Amino acid sequence: MRGELFDRMVSLVFPKGCVLCGATVAYDDLVCSRCTPDRREEHTCLFCGNPINRCLCETRWDFDGAAAPLHYRAETRGAVLQLKKLPDRRIARYLAEEMYRCLRREFPDVAFDWITEVPMHPEKLQKRGFNQGELLAAQLALLSGVFHRMRLLTCSGPLEYQHTLSRNERFAAVRDRYALAGSVRGKTILLVDDVLTTGATAQACAACLKEGGAAKVYVLTAAATPLSHILP
Ligand SMILES: [Zn+2]
Ligand SMILES: [Zn+2]
Repeated sequence: MRGELFDRMVSLVFPKGCVLCGATVAYDDLVCSRCTPDRREEHTCLFCGNPINRCLCETRWDFDGAAAPLHYRAETRGAVLQLKKLPDRRIARYLAEEMYRCLRREFPDVAFDWITEVPMHPEKLQKRGFNQGELLAAQLALLSGVFHRMRLLTCSGPLEYQHTLSRNERFAAVRDRYALAGSVRGKTILLVDDVLTTGATAQACAACLKEGGAAKVYVLTAAATPLSHILP
């Protein structure tokens, strides 16, 4: 209550902007009335775009499902990039709310034990100071009531920038760089990240969790790269 009153007072002095366009909004609003989130079509495969029950992907993934509420373009891309620069709680909250709606819609019958985030390479973490995936996982845990098993996965090996690599190179580069920091046997886990592009990172993390005995692994990201970018 005190926090809310404080927020209200702060917003009178420092008006808050829409997280997508910056326009002034009411104290507890995240997005203005002119901005509509650029949402992906429901129940469609992130990789081929077909309805989930008619997915044509030939890749065999170690995760049991993957979903993202938003397209990674325009304002969403701006919001995600902003969250990489600053640990902005309002942007994290906005993206997590979209993710939570997507979670309930796409995986309504899954009983998750834990939410965890895709880890950030320690060198990168030291430079940036925070992992935006961890912020999203924390907000999503608040919304869903599922326990945030923080830093369950670790990342090591040489730091490579994936965006300079081809699709196959990305899969090879990340294959063995993840490890477990605790037991996952029998657990159903929701793996969270900001953006899904090729799926290489999600695949490597899911393989690691499954090798450790996780029962099921689902992937949820805030946004997914438009399909044309990931098809060969
Ligand atoms: Zn706006
Ligand atoms: Zn597919």
